[in-house]
Amino acid sequence: MQSDDQELRDKLARLGKNLAWAWDAEAQSVFRDLDPVRWEEGGHDPTAQLAALTDADLETSARAHDLHPRVDRLLLEHAHYLERRTDWGPVRAGVLAGGPVAYFSAEFGLHESLPIYSGGLGVLSGDHVKSASDLGVPLVAVGLLYAGGYFTQHFDETGWQHETYPTVDPELQPLTAVLDADGEPLRIHLSTREGDLHAGVWEAHVGRVRLFLLDSDVLENDEQDRGLTARLYGGDRRMRARQELLLGVGGVRALHAMGIRPAVFHLNEGHSAFAPLEAARELMEREGRGFHDACFEVASRTVFTTHTPVPAGHDRFDPGLVEQQLGPLRDALGISEHDLFALGRVRPDDGGESFCMTVLALKLSHRANGVSALHGRVSRKMWTCLWPGRPEQDVPIGHITNGVHLPTWLAPAMARVYDEALPLGWRRAQAEPETWAPIEQVDDRTLWTARTSLKEELIRFVRHRSPERARKRGEDESVAEALESALSADRLLIGFARRFATYKRAGLVLDDLERLDSLVNHPQRPLTLVFAGKAHPKDDGGKALLQRVFQVSRDPRFVGKVVLLEGYDMAVGRKLVSGVDVWLNNPRRPLEASGTSGQKVVLNGGLNCSIPDGWWAEAYDGHNGFSIGTGGVHMDPAVQDARDAVDLMHALEEEVVPLYYDRDQHGLPHRWLGRVRRSIATLSWRFNSDRMVRDYAAGLYLPAAGLKLADFRHL
Ligand SMILES: *Cc1c(COP(=O)(O)O)cnc(C)c1O
Repeated sequence: MQSDDQELRDKLARLGKNLAWAWDAEAQSVFRDLDPVRWEEGGHDPTAQLAALTDADLETSARAHDLHPRVDRLLLEHAHYLERRTDWGPVRAGVLAGGPVAYFSAEFGLHESLPIYSGGLGVLSGDHVKSASDLGVPLVAVGLLYAGGYFTQHFDETGWQHETYPTVDPELQPLTAVLDADGEPLRIHLSTREGDLHAGVWEAHVGRVRLFLLDSDVLENDEQDRGLTARLYGGDRRMRARQELLLGVGGVRALHAMGIRPAVFHLNEGHSAFAPLEAARELMEREGRGFHDACFEVASRTVFTTHTPVPAGHDRFDPGLVEQQLGPLRDALGISEHDLFALGRVRPDDGGESFCMTVLALKLSHRANGVSALHGRVSRKMWTCLWPGRPEQDVPIGHITNGVHLPTWLAPAMARVYDEALPLGWRRAQAEPETWAPIEQVDDRTLWTARTSLKEELIRFVRHRSPERARKRGEDESVAEALESALSADRLLIGFARRFATYKRAGLVLDDLERLDSLVNHPQRPLTLVFAGKAHPKDDGGKALLQRVFQVSRDPRFVGKVVLLEGYDMAVGRKLVSGVDVWLNNPRRPLEASGTSGQKVVLNGGLNCSIPDGWWAEAYDGHNGFSIGTGGVHMDPAVQDARDAVDLMHALEEEVVPLYYDRDQHGLPHRWLGRVRRSIATLSWRFNSDRMVRDYAAGLYLPAAGLKLADFRHL
């Protein structure tokens, strides 16, 4: 008996060691079944779950939940998944196997138990890697391991955000130290003008993709450098520059040290834009090429994705700082300070211009893209200065619209609806429009039952977390009690969750509280709102917005009807995107490059109500959701905000609320569900990350590698 349990424990540990469990519903339910309470309290962490489990507990749950055969089946399926040769990647893009794509990103949002992401960019990187794995597109990923992760959020009794930093202990994560040829932990060494910097490398298995995370917390470094990778987006400019040195230059060196020769470099955002410089240096060393020749060669194999038109999203450094960190690399490249700085400047000879990582990335990549059609246009306009004399439409920045990883974001209750309605193998054919057409035949009752169960699940979650947190922060007992019966499955539920960056305008719907009161407390057609989100620790404007939402949620008119959930992360995100009726998105156009949370809502049968910005500008067809206004912009943001606030109220009052409460004799909202079906049919196939990665592979990776997509009629 004893050895049986040890064997089961080993198998579970093996299952937890590949992050593929994080998008396998059955694997998650196996880990949950070991101890459901601890699973929730421990943040859905298999390693922690197993470590805390006594042998006796394991034996009991193994018997109660039939774990032995379930785990065996999962391991078998997983082994099959790793070997699958029939996916899109091996069939169409198999030629890339000669040299993988090296995908660089400062953050990866793979699962809430590995908090090395802050928001949309990280979640997108995670989704990209997962789809590359599912499709079998040869790709390795490179990032940083943040020992203090991204923060955990707490509000005080006034609603002001406070941050605590978790400890990301690599030993307690599904990470393995990469070893060198002698079996010692691999070390990467970088020299700067202020001394050497060293790093170790951790490897995570994300399905079929290997993710390498550099970690400066090694004995060879001094105290300060050991803390270099302590926090994501923390510290001062010097720390940021040194992190980016580690990510870009260190990342290329790490791949080299492991014998990985990428065919293509993909810089996901400008943080990693130093990478091509190191790749050029290697090429010069290996083949004795000159700097310009080597740079051209590397640039032809480099893809750059820009993610925001917001100025704060583009790293800028003082040139002195760049020389301080990159000086020795510059020496090796044999170029002058002027030539190095010129690479990060729009006007090479302007000594007053700072060094911009986006400019560097655009100059060192021959293929660049924005993340939606509109963002592509905005980016071309923004960067015409780099191609003087060229008409805007000829600026070489294209677009690939973001998508989301279906198995990560689709809730089981809706997955069951699709299993019934869609053709066999629909998941693997998710990027084809035909796959989704049969959704139009699903009857109202089936759809509504699934939707209601997801909404009830979210409401249970809110009713558990909100009063608990209110009591913890010492709020009045009457508030806590009201929160125990917050929201209601009978009422229209609108969700808003994202980073509280000011351009996302979380406060827009609170602009006119009288009018909101009449909507929320309408006697026949009430409306409820649930908010969540984090503000950057240094963004007092974002924190003030959170506080405003918090205070409205404590206004007697709104208690239990407007709720602010503490601690937005991927777990809270999954609950919200699957449980709400409507997802509200009201950024100041055109500042939302894409946005992806609304795409998660589509998969789960909710409807989007959004400003036509980012992905929604190309997604909305008049019948598959709701539009707030028609995309007007104004030079004065205050004017634009005021107009949009009015348009938002108008959309809610005139369209969203009436449609939701328009019921047939069975109490079903027939026309609403028609819109849900249309949303699923027209949007699911386009805005998933399988489609996105296929677009990257066919449109950018293969051409960058000098290869072509296989025409599968010839296979
Ligand atoms: C999907 C997601 C985001 C991205 O949301 P946007 O709509 O792009 O703002 C941010 N954070 C988390 C936790 C997410 O799951």
